[in-house]
Amino acid sequence: MSSKPWYANGLRFECTQCGRCCTNHGAYTFVNLTYADADRIAAHLGLARPEFLREHCEVEPGYFPHLRNEGDACRFLTPEGHCAIYPVRPKQCATWPFWRENLAREAWDGPVRDCCPGVGQGPTYPAEEVERIADETERWYGA
Ligand code: SF4
Ligand code: SF4
Repeated sequence: MSSKPWYANGLRFECTQCGRCCTNHGAYTFVNLTYADADRIAAHLGLARPEFLREHCEVEPGYFPHLRNEGDACRFLTPEGHCAIYPVRPKQCATWPFWRENLAREAWDGPVRDCCPGVGQGPTYPAEEVERIADETERWYGA
């Protein structure tokens, strides 16, 4: 039996920079950080890790730290809809929407597409590249 994924011919995606994935939308509420993410962003902001965690994150034992929101949006989303820490943004921001859990067809054609107008637009990412990004994200968060 073939084990080809439903997206064997690739997936189209191009970010329209609408900023929707940087605001609260149901299941995609938290921007999780590994300590490598935290250290990279802290250095970019000129902060030490503890200062950065205190000022910008929620930290709960047993969970990754996550960015504290401002209202219903990420605290680093600018009024113009851009990411203020784009060059050092957390891994999950850089690899959206190609997360493993998003690659189930019902997720991709459901909540992911509903959230992200870039899905189905622009260039086609080959299935191998989609897999590589999903695996990289899983490894980063230790899954
Ligand atoms: S929701 Fe999609 S199109 Fe909009 S900013 Fe996020 S990745 Fe880009
Ligand atoms: S860190 Fe940047 S890319 Fe990630 S949710 Fe916040 S504003 Fe969006």
